[in-house]
Amino acid sequence: MLMNRLRETKVKKINSDHNTVIDLNDVHIGEGYFTVIAGPCALESEELAITTATAVEHAGAKVFRCSLFKPRTSPYTYQGYGLNGVKLLKLLHSETNLLLETEVLSTDHLDALASEADILRVGSRNMDNYELLKAVGKTNKPIILKRNMSATIEEFLLAAEYILSVGNNSVILCERGIRTFENYTRNTLDILAVPALKELTHLPVIVDPSHSTGKSSLVPAASKAALAAGADGLMIEVHPDPPNSFSDGQQSIDIPTFDKLMKDLSEMANLLGKKSFSTVLN
Ligand code: PEP
Ligand code: MN
Repeated sequence: MLMNRLRETKVKKINSDHNTVIDLNDVHIGEGYFTVIAGPCALESEELAITTATAVEHAGAKVFRCSLFKPRTSPYTYQGYGLNGVKLLKLLHSETNLLLETEVLSTDHLDALASEADILRVGSRNMDNYELLKAVGKTNKPIILKRNMSATIEEFLLAAEYILSVGNNSVILCERGIRTFENYTRNTLDILAVPALKELTHLPVIVDPSHSTGKSSLVPAASKAALAAGADGLMIEVHPDPPNSFSDGQQSIDIPTFDKLMKDLSEMANLLGKKSFSTVLN
């Protein structure tokens, strides 16, 4: 049953054939496709960026996570490259065919980030920063919107509505785990949010198996569960040397693990009849 506040919205799904599929230089994100976004939690150096991007591209990822600004719980931990990193995005564009996505923490950085990134991300802590939502809604870039760890599905969809309401219909919803009493995992992956969102909205839905679990050992299972539950893609933290990562090393998978996961996902995606999941592995 449609929730009351969703009745008059642009995010609302009208019928089962009503799906938004984003097409960015022939990379499709939406119903029928399975698109993998991968990369380190944060960009740390030029070398890390190129090594990781080349590896994830080889394994079949289509979009590279390039976080330059990090919303860290402690102000004394690594905060990211900042706007200086825009030149790294330029370099990645020249060295790979990957699309680049990056988190926008503040409207102050929006123009500079949008000048180079292909996709912008609003992180979970900013899901209800309505001024930021309206500002990204005025760009012509697809927006990945992450669910706040304490947001209901209705609140999540209404946050997306802020972006659509000012004219940007290219929103990708990302389930990244919610806070529950369980503390073995960093968050609790709300796997049923995937089919629930898919029946309520026409927007693409992806899953972040890294922040939802907080544990690299659980990332493959969470990724496969997301595909089985009907997600249109994943955003995974991958690092060539997770123990020495500047942030979120405990939940980042290394490159051999990512390669194996992509092979497994590719087989699953073929069985499920997904159109565009392909790897370029030999
Ligand atoms: C991230 O994806 O870099 C991140 C900080 O995740 P979240 O906003 O979901 O906490
Ligand atoms: Mn992270």
